Amino acid sequence: MKITFLGSSHGIPSAERFCSCAMLEINEKLYFIDAGAPLIDLLLRNGKHPEDIKAVFCTHHHGDHTDGLLNLTDLCNWAFKNTSFDMFVTKGEQGEVIKACVAVSSMPVDTERLRFRTAAPGAVYEDENVRVTYFPTKHCEPYPSYAILVEAGDKRALFTGDLSQRLAKGDFPVYPMENETDIVVCEMAHFCREHVEPYVKALKTQNLVFNHVNTPRGMDKFADIGDMAINGGYPFSIIAVNDGDTVEL
Ligand SMILES: [Zn+2]
Ligand SMILES: [Zn+2]
Repeated sequence: MKITFLGSSHGIPSAERFCSCAMLEINEKLYFIDAGAPLIDLLLRNGKHPEDIKAVFCTHHHGDHTDGLLNLTDLCNWAFKNTSFDMFVTKGEQGEVIKACVAVSSMPVDTERLRFRTAAPGAVYEDENVRVTYFPTKHCEPYPSYAILVEAGDKRALFTGDLSQRLAKGDFPVYPMENETDIVVCEMAHFCREHVEPYVKALKTQNLVFNHVNTPRGMDKFADIGDMAINGGYPFSIIAVNDGDTVEL
C-alpha cells in the first residue's frame, strides 16, 4: 500500500496545501480517503489514470473533505467514460446534490458507473484488494462522521477523520489502541498535543502521521509534533505530512 497525501491542510487551504485527500495505491488500483483537494486534477498531475479508481471514502460531509467530488464526477461522467467506481458520502443528499450540479453544468450522471453510496457504521466496502470499515466519531453531531480503517493484505491503515473539539467527546477511535496497525493518520485541527497525547500513548502502530494540521495564532503544532517525534520516547515514527508526501507500507 502506497499512500500519497494529495491534500494535507485543515479546513482552509494554504499556499502549499490543499484540503484533505489521501490517495492509496493498492495492486495498481486507486482508493481515496476524503476528497477535499481537487482530486481528479491531482490524480492526472501524478500520472495516474481515472480508470484505475475503485472507490472514494469520505469521512464526513464538510467541504474540506468532499468538494473534489463534484469535478471528479463531472469529468468521469463526460470525459473518462470507461471509469466505474463507488463514492461513499455520509449524508445521502450530498450525492444527489452533486449529481444535480453535474446535470446542470454538463449532462445527467451515469449512475451505473459513478455510484454514490451512503456510508454507515461497519464494513462498507470489500473487493479483491481492500476491506474498508467505518467507525462513528462525534465531529459534527448531529450529522455522522467516521474514522476509516483500510485493510489490504496484511496491512492496516486507520484514518481518524475529523474528531471533536479538544477531543472533549472522547471520540478518538479505539481500534488503533486495541489492534495493531501499520499506520494511523490523525487530524490535528480540532485539538492540541495535550489533548491527543493520552491517545497517542495508547496506540499500537508502526507509524503515526498527522495531517489536517492548523496553525492557530500563538501555537506551533508542527513544532509540537516534531517534539513528540524526537523527545516523546514513542516506539513508532511520528511525522506531519505535506502535500505530495508518500508513505509506503
Ligand atoms: Zn476537516
Ligand atoms: Zn469537518
